[in-house]
Amino acid sequence: MLVVEGLDVAYGRIQALHGLSIRVEEGEIVTLIGSNGAGKTTTLRALSGLHRPSRGSVRFEGKAIENASAEQIVRLGMAHAPEGRRIFTRLTVLENLEMGAYLVRDRSLVSQRLEQVFGLFPRLDERKAQSGGTLSGGEQQMLAIGRALMAGPRLLLLDEPSLGIAPLLVRQIFTEIARINREMGTTILLVEQNANLALKTAHRGYVLETGRIVLEDTAERLLVDPEVRKAYLG
Ligand code: ATP
Repeated sequence: MLVVEGLDVAYGRIQALHGLSIRVEEGEIVTLIGSNGAGKTTTLRALSGLHRPSRGSVRFEGKAIENASAEQIVRLGMAHAPEGRRIFTRLTVLENLEMGAYLVRDRSLVSQRLEQVFGLFPRLDERKAQSGGTLSGGEQQMLAIGRALMAGPRLLLLDEPSLGIAPLLVRQIFTEIARINREMGTTILLVEQNANLALKTAHRGYVLETGRIVLEDTAERLLVDPEVRKAYLG
C-alpha cells in the first residue's frame, strides 16, 4: 500500500533522514519506533506532504506522491494525526472534527463519520461543544486521531499518541487504535517512543536511529530482540 524508498529529508543543512525505506501493506499496523530526535515526526511530515524530501520516492497505492501537496495526499486516502497538541485550540471539538472532513461534500457521510468517531471516543461526544484548548492531553490526542479519521483515510499516520498522557488513557487510546485497524479496516503507520506499547499493538516494526532504519522485523520478534530490549524497553 505504501512503499517508501531511499528518502532523504533535510532542514536547511541538517539532514534528518538518510535513505529511509519502509513498506506498509494493506491491513497492517506498522510501527516506527525510535528515541527523541530520531526522525519519526519528520518521516510522517514527509509522507503527508508537509515537508518535501530532497531525495527518494513515496508510492501510495501505486501512485508517486513524493511531490504531491498535503491536500492531494488526503484526497488520495492518507491522513495524518499529528501529536495531540496540534489541534485547533480555539475551535470546539465538533468544529475540529468537521475541519477533518473539509474535503468531504456529502453531509450524510460527515454525520456518519462523526458517529463513528464518537463511538470510538465517547468523551469527544460528551465534550463536543467545548473548545479544544480546554481538553486534557489525552482527550486532545483522541481529537487529533478523530479529526484524521473524519477524512475517511485508508492509511492513517499516527504521531506519538502516547505523548504526555496519563498511563490509563494511553492504554485506552492504544486499544482504540487496534480497533480502528480491526473494525474499520484502516491501515496504520504508528510512530512511537513508547516502544513496548507500540510493539504490542503493531504487526510489524522498524527501528529508527538518527534518521536511519537500523532494524526491521515482526513486532513479536522485535519485542524479544536483545538490542531492542536494551535500548528501548529497558
Ligand atoms: P521527537 O520524539 O522529539 O519528536 P522525532 O523522532 O520525531 O523526535 P524529529 O522531530 O523528526 O524527531 O527530528 C529529527 C531531527 O531533525 C532532529 O535532529 C531535530 O532536531 C531535527 N529537526 C526537526 N525539526 C526541525 C526543524 N524545523 N528545523 C531544524 N531541525 C529540525
